[in-house]
Amino acid sequence: MQKFKMDFHVHSDFSPDSPSPMIKMIHKAMELGITDLAFTEHVDLDYDITDPGHDWNFDQDLYFETINKFQHDYKEKIRVYAGIEIGMQPHLEIRNQEIVDARPFDFVIGSLHSVDGSDLYKRVYFDRHPPERAVEHYYEQYLECINSFDGYDVLGHLDLYIRYEAKTKSVALKSYFDVLEALMKRVIESGKGIELNAGGFRYGLGQNNPGMDILELYKSLGGEILTLGSDAHRPDQLGIEYDTNIERVKSLGFKYVCTFKNRKPTFHKI
Ligand SMILES: [Zn+2]
Ligand SMILES: [Zn+2]
Repeated sequence: MQKFKMDFHVHSDFSPDSPSPMIKMIHKAMELGITDLAFTEHVDLDYDITDPGHDWNFDQDLYFETINKFQHDYKEKIRVYAGIEIGMQPHLEIRNQEIVDARPFDFVIGSLHSVDGSDLYKRVYFDRHPPERAVEHYYEQYLECINSFDGYDVLGHLDLYIRYEAKTKSVALKSYFDVLEALMKRVIESGKGIELNAGGFRYGLGQNNPGMDILELYKSLGGEILTLGSDAHRPDQLGIEYDTNIERVKSLGFKYVCTFKNRKPTFHKI
């Protein structure tokens, strides 16, 4: 196999918002020289209060059947991992735990797409709160979630809110420092990590999620577990910013990035 190259945040058409069959993503990943590819399909229960009873989920039997076949068929060429991106909300702790425990996932991203029952991309949340408070409360909710749920391996795309409300981009770190620091300390103490998600570049933000200041804070608090992912929903989005992100991560003093197999990290020297 080639030199190590990872993409640990990828959606195929098992996710409701991706049109791309898994096989197409795998072929493109191989073409790009990706050696370690994790599919992280969406499960988002109760994702929005305006759409009660509507969950984002997928056929997990078929998912494992499909991915196991590809893992086997392509094992000489690429390592394919079975992951999930689970939408956290404080009231979902038990149901989410049951979901991640029910199957042999390699990797679980815990993401916060909805705050106070409102999906961030619908932007209602930002009408309710001024930018400083919107950001602070986002981390309060994240902390509340992981205080009662530890069935995740990394937190997904911290600072996601900047994708949906440009004003939050200029909110100074110091205005939400205390809660973010508490969140990161909890992550680190629990033996978990965060991801660096290149999807922000796709949204024209000119940055990853999270941005460099948040990533630097994570490192300074002793954070070591870091995965890299594109958040690709289509083949042409795979692996974006990878080489540059390796350099960015190194510049902050990280010496390793992680992949996960059977929910356990493997550290890869960079
Ligand atoms: Zn996400
Ligand atoms: Zn995603």
